Amino acid sequence: MNFQNFDFHPRIAAGIAAAGYCTPTPIQIQAIPKVMQGNDLIGLAQTGTGKTAAYALPLLNRLLNKTNRKIRALIIAPTRELAEQIHQDIKTLGSRTDARSLTLYGGVGLNPQIRDLKRGADIIVACPGRLIDHIQRGNMDFSCLEVLILDEADQMLDMGFIPDIRRILKHIPRDRQTLMFSATMREEIRQLANEVLRKPLTVQIGQPAPADTVSHTHFPVPQDLKTPLLLKILKDIQIGSVLIFTRTKHRAKRLSEILFKAGYGSTSLQGNLSQGRRQAALDGFRSGKFQILVATDIAARGIDVSRVSHVVNYDIPATAEAYIHRIGRTGRAEQKGKAFNLVTSEDKDIIRSIDRCLGSLVERRTFADFDYGSSAPAKPYRASYSTKPRQLDRQSLR
Ligand code: AMP
Repeated sequence: MNFQNFDFHPRIAAGIAAAGYCTPTPIQIQAIPKVMQGNDLIGLAQTGTGKTAAYALPLLNRLLNKTNRKIRALIIAPTRELAEQIHQDIKTLGSRTDARSLTLYGGVGLNPQIRDLKRGADIIVACPGRLIDHIQRGNMDFSCLEVLILDEADQMLDMGFIPDIRRILKHIPRDRQTLMFSATMREEIRQLANEVLRKPLTVQIGQPAPADTVSHTHFPVPQDLKTPLLLKILKDIQIGSVLIFTRTKHRAKRLSEILFKAGYGSTSLQGNLSQGRRQAALDGFRSGKFQILVATDIAARGIDVSRVSHVVNYDIPATAEAYIHRIGRTGRAEQKGKAFNLVTSEDKDIIRSIDRCLGSLVERRTFADFDYGSSAPAKPYRASYSTKPRQLDRQSLR
């Protein structure tokens, strides 16, 4: 299977070449023909699968017939970073077309966006809050809209955006093609799909990356020794580009400062930063200026950082699904990635479900020369300490 099979216009084919894509990913193979036939579609796939191009390529192909700078496609995404990333992908893939894409999200001035809207765009990539703002100010003309795309619908649900989506829907034509992408199909998402999609086809992509190209290591540690242990890991283990997840914004900021003081090129990505600083953090991490990015889930959601060698779960996420999401940032495109998990005794239930989900060998590792101190990890972990990969001993976690 290659991109020629899709019968894209040569200008789209040139965009694919400009992006450096050689063969389509599984979600692209499944979704592109269905979208090109004009079907509504539910894509169950997460970031890292190539889902953006799966909808962007048919969209750009469709927009070739005329570019009148009226809004013909609206893409709604939960975070500014994701919106920006989608916009950049569209710019690359559509670099040989005349299609113009525009982003609308909060945290930056309204006026430049209003000015850009007046100049006209074919594709709008927007976050819900700012889009509603523009709709209320009478800045949006959706009379020519043909395609609506809801990206990362489950994240929009988590962030409380579903009522906003319903409000936006009232302002766009009912006669349109609608595509919805979500990593999961929870009940609320199913409900939304029933409301917004017409006779949708569904394509679903599993999670090959974690199993195939990512190795996982649990580092048992008492809660109060997580930071010293992280410093030990960074010192002892050959690492490249590291994405560290914390549960809170405050902790992301604090930890990044500690790592910076310890001599690492480190920055943080969390909701308290201005848009400019978030973008600078992300760009700096992508370019290699910062070796370490400390982020919260919300801030990092959907972000494509293809060259991450290690994902460190400083705080273990609340669900196995969230874990799979986080580690989707490493081990992409057949590169080997590593997931390091700082595991406390409080995490044992969630670790059990993560291990079940991975269903493979999970290495458990301690350092003989690290002082686990008086508050050493709770017994169940101590019983299973080993520096060698071993089959998960589920009993030891109970
Ligand atoms: P996405 O899931 O859309 O965030 O895409 C994840 C990454 O895969 C992005 O860096 C894309 O540029 C890249 N990508 C998408 N499709 C392909 C492809 N067919 N071949 C190689 N890389 C791709």
